Amino acid sequence: MQNLTEHFAHVLLFACPQCERPLASACASSKQNLEEADAHFFNPHCHCGWTGAVAGMEAVKHWVQPWRGFTAEVGAAGPGDGTCDGRAH
Ligand SMILES: [Zn+2]
Repeated sequence: MQNLTEHFAHVLLFACPQCERPLASACASSKQNLEEADAHFFNPHCHCGWTGAVAGMEAVKHWVQPWRGFTAEVGAAGPGDGTCDGRAH
């Protein structure tokens, strides 16, 4: 099951609401548009001990990078395991 669809890595930079350290989260998506990851929730963990769900649209910065195929889609992909799409395939 080789999937040759183009993929994109979305890299989002958040500020920790507790200590304001930068927190980076990344996920993979088959979509390039920013809205795709903006609608997604991430669970960054901060060194200060804070962890929580933040929406992609709260990101301070959002990069999209063309990415090679990834294998996260194989099996039950969930919102917390590295895909922006957040649904099982
Ligand atoms: Zn923090």
